[in-house]
Amino acid sequence: PRCVSSRSCFAADLTIERNPALKPKPDPSTLVFGKQFSDHMLTVSWSEAGGWQAPQIKPFQNLSLHPASSALHYSIELFEGMKAFRGVDNRIRLFRPMLNMERMYRSTERSCLPLFDKGELIKCINKLVEIDREWVPYSTDASLYIRPTFIGTEPSLGVSRAGHALLFVIIGPVGPYFATGGFSPVSLLADPRYVRAWRGGVGEYKMGGNYGPTIAVQSEAAKQKCQQVLWLYGENEEITEVGTMNLFIYWTTEKGEKELVTPPLDGIILPGVTRQSLLDLAREWVRNKNGKGEVFQLSPSCDMCYSSTIAFFLYRERTGHPSTGWHHSSRSDQAVVAGPC
Ligand code: PMP
Repeated sequence: PRCVSSRSCFAADLTIERNPALKPKPDPSTLVFGKQFSDHMLTVSWSEAGGWQAPQIKPFQNLSLHPASSALHYSIELFEGMKAFRGVDNRIRLFRPMLNMERMYRSTERSCLPLFDKGELIKCINKLVEIDREWVPYSTDASLYIRPTFIGTEPSLGVSRAGHALLFVIIGPVGPYFATGGFSPVSLLADPRYVRAWRGGVGEYKMGGNYGPTIAVQSEAAKQKCQQVLWLYGENEEITEVGTMNLFIYWTTEKGEKELVTPPLDGIILPGVTRQSLLDLAREWVRNKNGKGEVFQLSPSCDMCYSSTIAFFLYRERTGHPSTGWHHSSRSDQAVVAGPC
């Protein structure tokens, strides 16, 4: 049934304008993250007076924005990052897209932007991917990155809820996130002077405002010959995330138990789909194996976290306050992890 009242069931109204000038596809081995875009994009606009408008798939093009748009002044902006893979059977699959839609919905609520129907947006994204399906790389080392974005386009300067908004989705082929490839260790800068997110803040939402300020810290890391930032938090310098990734540690405890640990979802970290997937798989594995150690490997193609492979032996998710275990001992230290994730 159509949700005529809220007009949030918009997929049935989708219109498609084909791009007459298709670009040549890049060689998958030369891809740099986020620099190549496909031939089409999806846009859905909303206004307080008119509600959701019919979604459009149209040729990839610039946006035209009022210079007072609230996204430009007050960072009323949120986004998602998800992927479509071409399987060895040549079928194209999105990786757990509903989890991204749920996170996008939470970011939308926190940004006071209008709520949307998650299933309807997935339908529109599927159509966009289908139209640009030749942009999904014919490669097991590359995938199609999907960037849903939602901005406030309110054309006035008061710091208030946006009465106009634009949801759009752009897509493009990507290779491994790290230039060193998916399996090489990366060096990390761990300096407690820098904080990514804090309690009561918005670190658990995927808002643009969380990312811009990290660039200066990332360039500080690069100056010190580190590839990524290990974000610390609080008096005990608890470890939280690495760059734009969640973090797992696989170690042997003092009691000799093999343990897989990850920081809890306490508002400081982004609830990653990869994190959730690793926990789901590890839990299932532990259940099936009765906790007896055996190597479990995660297929790189299931791994949104830029193609690293992780071996699990025994899993226990650490719960409760992170100061119970997430102590990082030396200040301004550098750590090396084998396989980022
Ligand atoms: N943490 C942060 C801060 C992120 O931006 C991301 C996404 N790049 C992640 C973790 C990982 O999230 P996901 O596994 O959903 O890609």
